[in-house]
Amino acid sequence: MSILVVGSLAFDDIETPFGNSPDTLGGSSTYIALSASYFTDDINMVGVVGADFTDEHFDLLHSRNIDTKGIQRIDNGKTFRWAGRYHYDMNSRDTLDTQLNVFADFDPHVPEQYRKSEFVCLGNIDPELQVKVLDQITAPKMVICDTMNFWIEGKPEELKKTLERVDIFIINDSEARILSGDPNLVKSARIIRAMGPKILIIKKGEHGALLFTDNGIFAAPAYPLESIYDPTGAGDTFAGGFIGHLSRCKSVTDLDLRKSVLYGSAMASFCVEKFGTERLNALDLLEIEDRYQSFLDLSRIEA
Ligand code: AMP
Repeated sequence: MSILVVGSLAFDDIETPFGNSPDTLGGSSTYIALSASYFTDDINMVGVVGADFTDEHFDLLHSRNIDTKGIQRIDNGKTFRWAGRYHYDMNSRDTLDTQLNVFADFDPHVPEQYRKSEFVCLGNIDPELQVKVLDQITAPKMVICDTMNFWIEGKPEELKKTLERVDIFIINDSEARILSGDPNLVKSARIIRAMGPKILIIKKGEHGALLFTDNGIFAAPAYPLESIYDPTGAGDTFAGGFIGHLSRCKSVTDLDLRKSVLYGSAMASFCVEKFGTERLNALDLLEIEDRYQSFLDLSRIEA
């Protein structure tokens, strides 16, 4: 199953209580694609970068078999930039700066060979761009969408239009509360699912994730790690692992979705162990399976 990933490609300036990492390769689609690349080698990216995005950055994506023909490079432009500072508990952060740069004038073009993609992952990006991408896909089997407070607060009506066409929506708890206007997550889930996406995942940082479907609620734990260096991209990495596993399932049953949530959680737990994408650049499949197994063991009770 092919996966089309659209979202930001970025350079991030990250500050955590444990150190700083300036000019770090990031962006929602970078994390999603790298994470999903451990599950399938049919990943196509659509996005835009500036001249500061060098061959070395492309090489990293290519080393994971990710197709980047859909990424436009604007020779006189600068890549999207984001700066954030994490609080002491690493669960919350302040955005210090967002520079859209080349994304401000981006008109996404989905190459002909990507238009039959079965899985479309709309990473965190302007919801108007998310819709422009969807308009170019012939008959997607599954549309997965992520977003963040920047767009929930900045373009709420546009985001709601996108959501009408989304099957699976992934957001974090504070974003769910803002979008729904309700502090209770179960009520929030009902309100958000009525906006379109029948399957909703609410991420709760170090407290795991909740999956809401017609059949009920599934709660996945987060991996209890002793050292967390940088949570940047954890949500996108979750989405990549989730969609990566789902794309290799023959169906989309509740069991498939639950396993996908655990694979997403396993991938996110690697992401936070180093700054930026460093940990995601070279994982091996065995350690991913081991971590997945640890997730199962976390809340298993033998009869
Ligand atoms: P996450 O920690 O999963 O929320 O994702 C962090 C990534 O999202 C960083 O690498 C940023 O470059 C990217 N990002 C931050 N703000 C935005 C935004 N407004 N639109 C698109 N991508 C963003």
